[in-house]
Amino acid sequence: ARDWCISRERYWGTPLPIWTCSFCGYRVAVESIEEIKKLSKTGEAPKDVHRPWIDKIVFRCPRCGNDMYREPYVVDVWMDSGVAHTASLVQINEEHRFNELFPYDWITEAVDQTRGWFYTLLFTSIIMHNAVPYKTVLCQGHVLDKYGKKMSKSRGNVVWALEFMERSGADPLRLYLLSKSAPWDSINFDPDEVKDMKRILDILWNSVNFAKTYMDLDKWSTVSIEDDLKHLKAEDYWFIYELYMMINDIDKYITSGDLHLATRRLLNFIVDVLSHKYITVIRPRVWLEEEAPQKRSAYATLFMVLTALIKVLAPFAPYISEYLYQAFTKRYAKKDEVKESVHIEVLPTIPENLLNKKLWECVSTLFRLSEEILAIRSKYGIKRRWPLKRVMIIVNDVDKNLYEMAIDVMKIYANVKEVLVYSSAEGIDTSGLIEIDLKYLKGYVDITVDEDLLHEGFVRDIVRRIQMLRKERNLPVDYILNRISIYTESEAIHKAVAKFRDYIARETRAKEVVLVASRPSNSIEFDIEDQKTYIAIEL
Ligand SMILES: [Zn+2]
Repeated sequence: ARDWCISRERYWGTPLPIWTCSFCGYRVAVESIEEIKKLSKTGEAPKDVHRPWIDKIVFRCPRCGNDMYREPYVVDVWMDSGVAHTASLVQINEEHRFNELFPYDWITEAVDQTRGWFYTLLFTSIIMHNAVPYKTVLCQGHVLDKYGKKMSKSRGNVVWALEFMERSGADPLRLYLLSKSAPWDSINFDPDEVKDMKRILDILWNSVNFAKTYMDLDKWSTVSIEDDLKHLKAEDYWFIYELYMMINDIDKYITSGDLHLATRRLLNFIVDVLSHKYITVIRPRVWLEEEAPQKRSAYATLFMVLTALIKVLAPFAPYISEYLYQAFTKRYAKKDEVKESVHIEVLPTIPENLLNKKLWECVSTLFRLSEEILAIRSKYGIKRRWPLKRVMIIVNDVDKNLYEMAIDVMKIYANVKEVLVYSSAEGIDTSGLIEIDLKYLKGYVDITVDEDLLHEGFVRDIVRRIQMLRKERNLPVDYILNRISIYTESEAIHKAVAKFRDYIARETRAKEVVLVASRPSNSIEFDIEDQKTYIAIEL
C-alpha cells in the first residue's frame, strides 16, 4: 500500500501517544502510563488516557527543557482494530491463549477494508510477531439495490436491515444473502426474491409437520428405530444416500468458502429431494391403515434424515432450525442423544450400513425416467393424477433385481399402474409405445388411458374437491357427512361417479353419494377436466 494518513481529527478514539517540543520540535512517543508519569511535568498520569484528560499532560523536553504538547488528534479506528490479533485477547484477559490461537483461522470484512483492516493487521503483526496473523481472509462484496446501484439515503433505495427482518423474518433474509451470490461478490438485493426463501422454509415446515402428524398418529418413537431401520425400502436408501452426499458437499463448500453453493445445495435438498420426491413417494406407505413395517421404516428414515437436515441447516437458518430441533427432534429422540441446543451439535455422520450406492443409482434412474414420463404427460395433456397403463424398462441382467425392488418409486412418482422390468429387449412388443432413451437404459411408455383409468382420474379429482369443501368448513377429520350430491354435464364423469360411488363415499367419509339430475342448491361449481360439475355436501 502507498503511505496514508493514520491520524483523524476526531475526539473519540485512541489518542496519538506523541508529544512535540514547542521550542526545538523534538518528539517522543510513549508506550506506557509509567512513561507518561516519568516525562510529565507534574509527575502524574491522567485519570483516563483518553481525551480530554490526556490533553492536559505537558512534558518537559529532555533536549531543551521547554514544554512539550501532545499531538491533538486520534488514530484512525482501523489502527485499533488493526492490532486485534493481540489486543482482543488482552482485553478479555485471555492473553495466555495467544500461542494456541495465533495465527487465526478465519477473518472477514467487506472489500473496502482491504487496506484499512486486512493490511493493518498484517503489518502490525509482522512488526510485533514477525508473522502473518490470519490463515484465511474472506473479503466480502457490498449489498447494492436490485439494479446494482449503491444504496443511499438521498437516492431513497436503502433497505433497512432491522425493518426488513421484522417484516420478512431473519432466517429468510439470511438464506437469501447467503445463496444469492458468492460472498466475495456484490449482491443486487431484491426484496421480492426473499419471498422465495420464505416459501422454501414453508416447504420444510410442512414436511416436518407431515412427519410429525403421521408419527403421532401411529404412536411411533425412536425406541424401535434400530429395528425399523432393518425394513428400509429402496426409496429410503435413496433418501439416506442423498443426505450423505448433501452433507459431504456442504462440508466441502463451507471449507472452501463457497457459502452460496452450500446454501443452494441445502435449499435444493429441501425442495427437490425431501418434498418433491421422497415425501411424494412415501405418502401411500404412511396412509396404510394397518400396522406395517414399511410404515415404521418410513418414519425411522424421515426422523433420521430430518434430524440431520435440521443440524446442517442450523448455521444457515438458526431460528427455524432451533425451533424444529426443540419441537421435532427432541420430541422423539432418546434423551442422551440430543443436546441442549442445535447450535452445539456437530455435523451428522451416516452409519455405513445404511449407505447403498447401487440402490441409490437405481432409484435415481427411476426418478429420471419418471421425470421423462411427466414431460411426456404434459406434452400429451395427460394430468399426473390419471394413472398411465404401463411402462416397460429394459436394464442389464445384473441390475434387474434391484430395479424390481425399487419399482414402486416409479409407479407412485409417475403414477403408472404397471411397471415391467426386462433384462433384454428381445421378444418385447414395443409398437405404439413411446421410447425413453437414457443411453444406459431404455423405457417404453404406454400412454393410452383406458376408460377405467380415466374414470379413476376423474374420481380422484372429485375426491380432492370434496376434501377441499370439508376443509373449508373446518370439519374434523373423522366427521361423517350425511350426503354428497353431484351434478355433472359430462357423460364420462357421470359414469365415473356411478361406478366409483362407494370409493368416493369412503375417501370423503360420507354416508352416501348421489347423482342428481339438476344443479343442487348450495352446490359449488368445479371444472373437472374442463367439464362443469356441481358438488354439494350435506352435514
Ligand atoms: Zn525541546
